[in-house]
Amino acid sequence: MKLTAIYPGTFDPITNGHLDIIHRALQLFDTLVVAVSPTQRKNSLFSLTERLALISEMVQPLANIRVVPLDGLLVDLVKKEGARIIVRGLRSALDLDYEMQLAHMNQVLCSEVETVFLSASLQYRDVSATIVREICELSGDISSFVPSTVVNYLKRKNASAK
Ligand code: ADP
Repeated sequence: MKLTAIYPGTFDPITNGHLDIIHRALQLFDTLVVAVSPTQRKNSLFSLTERLALISEMVQPLANIRVVPLDGLLVDLVKKEGARIIVRGLRSALDLDYEMQLAHMNQVLCSEVETVFLSASLQYRDVSATIVREICELSGDISSFVPSTVVNYLKRKNASAK
């Protein structure tokens, strides 16, 4: 049986931690669908179109992966893709409560759905898109946390906002 997994998130912007989860999930599943949340309620730095383009560029060398917008309920996308698995990353106990809540809600909405947690790799466990955005806004060096393409996108974005 071929296994498709969905990796949902905001990815504002995609970090080395997200990319690590993507690479590891591709070792476990036949197909990975990265589902990018529109974040109507959160104020994202990058628009959905920008985030989709950036992630697509970053995963372009990889096989068996697609990047799609999440334009409804996650469980509906899971069903539409013929998948059963949601992949999420866990960095710390801080992530755990929120992630368990999401996993349970999704299981109530669709009992066949399973959430699989991948523990963050040691070198990325403190990397968060929010902190990366803040460091960059204050002209700090973010090159250990995001790929160089993302560094350039972030610098351009901050320059245009000034
Ligand atoms: P959210 O979906 O809560 O907006 P993100 O888009 O930032 O969060 O992240 C998507 C998923 O990737 C979440 O499960 C999050 O815990 C996980 N994640 C974020 N950063 C890392 C990291 N550095 N290492 C491992 N997993 C991460």
